[in-house]
Amino acid sequence: MLKNDCVTKLINLEGVKFKNIDIQEDEICVFVVPLHDVQLCPKCSRPTSTLVDITPKVYRDLDLAGRTCRIEIDQRRFECLHCFCTFTESLSFAASHRHYTSRFEQEVYECCRETTATYAGSKFGISDKTAAEIYYMVARRKQQEPLQPIQVIGIDEIAMHKGHKDFIVIISDLTNKRVIDVLQDRKKAALEDCMRGGVRNSRLGSNMLQ
Ligand SMILES: [Zn+2]
Repeated sequence: MLKNDCVTKLINLEGVKFKNIDIQEDEICVFVVPLHDVQLCPKCSRPTSTLVDITPKVYRDLDLAGRTCRIEIDQRRFECLHCFCTFTESLSFAASHRHYTSRFEQEVYECCRETTATYAGSKFGISDKTAAEIYYMVARRKQQEPLQPIQVIGIDEIAMHKGHKDFIVIISDLTNKRVIDVLQDRKKAALEDCMRGGVRNSRLGSNMLQ
């Protein structure tokens, strides 16, 4: 297995792969990139690869080998060529407008539940006010609806570059508005493989690729 693939498995974040790492004495910064170059438009659910801009974002993650760990990604903004809206891509490992990964917030939540926000704050190196805010936010999130079973699958073919014939096939879960997989191969066999693998797993809610 390639080294980058190993680290991608080690960091275990859905929808991204390892790119680089910066290891300091007491802090580790892991740079990751998205698995796919396409996103679904949140308004019309059509896939788009038209990039507007990127913004470097940093998310506090669970400690790694005793060091504070941060995940850095160039978060992308896309334009939909069908309804012309622009939108920032959603990340599967962190909620919108947050500075922490979802699994970090989950750990803080559990700690607050078992002890106090003051203890959780000191344990995770955040203020007790932030620990309490994370606790209430995760509690609210738990009351919201989880991913729904897939009812409708979208299959779209788009060219990655305007005027070129470099077509890719986008498999989408239109029920939850998420990209399931991107196929470089337009052959029927590749689509059948995807349906037997990724989509079936996604239906079980255990392996959404993005
Ligand atoms: Zn759209």
